[in-house]
Amino acid sequence: MAGFLFDDMIFGPVKSRRLGKSLGINLLPTHSKACSYNCIYCECGWTGNRRGMNIELPLRADISAALEEALIRLKDTEMQPDSLTFAGNGEPTMHPEFEGIIEDTIKLRNALIPSAKVSVLSNGSMLHKPAVFASLMKVDNNIQKLDGGREETIRLINMPLKAFRLAEYVETLKRFGHNLIIQSLFLRGKLGDRIVDNTTREEVHAWLNLVTDINPAYVMIYAIERETPAGNLVRIGRDELEAIAKQVRDAGIEAEVYA
Ligand code: SF4
Repeated sequence: MAGFLFDDMIFGPVKSRRLGKSLGINLLPTHSKACSYNCIYCECGWTGNRRGMNIELPLRADISAALEEALIRLKDTEMQPDSLTFAGNGEPTMHPEFEGIIEDTIKLRNALIPSAKVSVLSNGSMLHKPAVFASLMKVDNNIQKLDGGREETIRLINMPLKAFRLAEYVETLKRFGHNLIIQSLFLRGKLGDRIVDNTTREEVHAWLNLVTDINPAYVMIYAIERETPAGNLVRIGRDELEAIAKQVRDAGIEAEVYA
């Protein structure tokens, strides 16, 4: 099975296509993945942990101490991070101390490397929790997933492990106002005997309608970068992604392609 896992709480800085020099903060277990989704393109591989299984998450105090050490070490060096990025082996907002961890991170960033942005890459599955929503309102780059414009397409690509209602999700995203970046990955291929393709004219049209309705600060459009757990997926080329980005820009919303 394909799968690339981070083996530390704090990793990098890595050169990110989207965020520059990015110091990663992994709130999930090291050496295994924990997520509320099971995306067919996930770099970490298939989601193995299910509800009811015990997963060991890093403690808030340990994350804060490790982050402080890294920021002191990297400050004023050529590796000084542009972004402190919550990403890693799954969905960061699942951590029960997410709110406090964001508070600690903002404090440390302000004290040590004020130019660094605090970024969260999320699938949006925990936005119903008021503390998660409020914390995301405080970060610089609140990056939420939208990989299709139809519920059926999202179910096929992202495989949410709990109930998912696209209309509710869109309404929740709208509550962020402009404090929101949408990330969308485009792909096509086969999953078993089912065709999966969010690049058709109809699919892009449906997605664009939602993006326009949500009206985020901007949209990150990207393609598969590493090996995917589902075989038979095609990496979409830059020209095709640029054509999608142009439609977003024509609708009056900024868009950037990362491919
Ligand atoms: S939401 Fe992110 S971590 Fe979770 S399965 Fe999808 S790509 Fe992987």
